[in-house]
Amino acid sequence: MDKDSIKNPLIIIISSPSGAGKTSICKNLIKLDSNLRLSISVTTRQARDNEINHKDYHFVDSEEFNYLRNNDKFLEHAKVFNNHYGTLREDVNNLLSKGNDVLFDIDWQGAQQLVRSDYSNIITIFILPPSKDAIEERLLMRLKDSGDKIEIVKSRMLEFDTEISHKDEYKYIVINEELNQCTNEILQIIKNERQ
Ligand code: 5GP
Repeated sequence: MDKDSIKNPLIIIISSPSGAGKTSICKNLIKLDSNLRLSISVTTRQARDNEINHKDYHFVDSEEFNYLRNNDKFLEHAKVFNNHYGTLREDVNNLLSKGNDVLFDIDWQGAQQLVRSDYSNIITIFILPPSKDAIEERLLMRLKDSGDKIEIVKSRMLEFDTEISHKDEYKYIVINEELNQCTNEILQIIKNERQ
């Protein structure tokens, strides 16, 4: 960890169309860079089988989400695929005050809100999948146990073009052809930005 990242921690926003491998990349980044911490979002979405409450997300019902929103607890929040997601202001401030760089796995709506906020040192990275077909394939794999997976995949593919249309709002665009290579590219971006 260098001195500058303690004085001026970075806010690193990573967005992508759903299924572009963003969650795996974020997990890899956290493992490989000891000063990075992942911002854990609050969501009204149902937990998937492999997800753990308070580790992957803080899973809440709509009532709790509304309470947090109405009491200004969110740094940003958005509705994505009929579910609500938000970033807790206090969690982020705690991490930044310890000198950690914070990684955000959030959509373009959240990215826009953070970029407009009072925080400085914000880096925005958009991950592109190698192709639209690759996304559909990954989504189908991920949802293999869901009964209504075809409907979910259909609606997420409809969102694909909307998300991609925001890619030019990001400072960096990285293509996820291969997970480790993409992770290394992002690590290099973070290293350069720290200098
Ligand atoms: P998933 O439900 O597949 O985990 O995430 C769906 C989308 O919501 C992804 O694009 C993810 O980046 C985004 N997302 C997750 N947490 C947040 C958040 O706190 N705020 C915003 N704006 N988007 C989020």
